[in-house]
Amino acid sequence: MNTIMTVLGPIETKDLGFCQFHEHIAISMGMSYLISSQLYMDDMQKSLEEVLRYKNKGGNTLIDAQPGGCNRIVPLLQSVAQKSGVNIIASTGFHKLIFYPENHWIHPISEEKLSQYFIDELNDGMYLENDLNYSTVQSTARAGIIKTALDTENLTPRYHKLFSAAARACIETGRSIMIHIEKASDPILLLEFLIQQGVKPAQMIFCHLDRAIDDLSIHKRIASAGAFLEYDTIGRFKYHSDEQELTIISEMLKSGFEHQLLFSLDTTAARMKAYSPDAIGLDYILTTFLNKMKNAAISDTQIRRIFYDNCIKALINQ
Ligand SMILES: [Zn+2]
Repeated sequence: MNTIMTVLGPIETKDLGFCQFHEHIAISMGMSYLISSQLYMDDMQKSLEEVLRYKNKGGNTLIDAQPGGCNRIVPLLQSVAQKSGVNIIASTGFHKLIFYPENHWIHPISEEKLSQYFIDELNDGMYLENDLNYSTVQSTARAGIIKTALDTENLTPRYHKLFSAAARACIETGRSIMIHIEKASDPILLLEFLIQQGVKPAQMIFCHLDRAIDDLSIHKRIASAGAFLEYDTIGRFKYHSDEQELTIISEMLKSGFEHQLLFSLDTTAARMKAYSPDAIGLDYILTTFLNKMKNAAISDTQIRRIFYDNCIKALINQ
């Protein structure tokens, strides 16, 4: 796999630029909103304003981590990419099952059919209008990554089906798998399961461990295996301060894992200025956190590796 797929088509690795690896810039009204009102942002102008704010401070690429069938808005992503000039990479895959209504098609679908659905989204085009009904209408825009989620259930039969389907899509298309992890998820169990299925660790990106898993020896085991860790508890003060975040980052860098780290903000309406004026904004890393990293003695070379080189490696897994 040597091209990167955005919602406007393939780009070369040299055009990826500064990349935040796990964001949400659009979520339609649905189950997510019923769980948290911050998980709803479908205003094209506001999302564009926020992405332009990111671009104006030096941002080039965003990965939108909202999977299909779960309030992803493909036309909005395409339009924002077109109008802003920022590369947007969209996700196929699945979210935590709490985000799907009981009668959603993802519950009864077979592993084989689900896997083919992911492959279609990566190879041909993302399905539209599929939040409630299983739709066969496809956009011309293709997904560029497989977003998945491990919740506290871990690998019960229904999650076993979902992850097996994602693993097959990963192997068949060469695209990477991004995995939402939360407290009481067992990322090591999943790492071993995916390896057994034939997925290379270099194709796996474990997200949110900086707020989900306090024991850094687990972070180190995952990074030692060759998988990526995507940290995004930056400017998320309800979890911890940026200084505490930097303690985790510095420890991982000191231990030699600078090739395995990716950073982002995991934005919702609560953290985008266009939706919430007091929010930190999608440009927070560029305007504020990079300086905090430099003050914590993180070098320009390490910063470049994390926001540029590692993002390319994690997308093309070569
Ligand atoms: Zn997310």
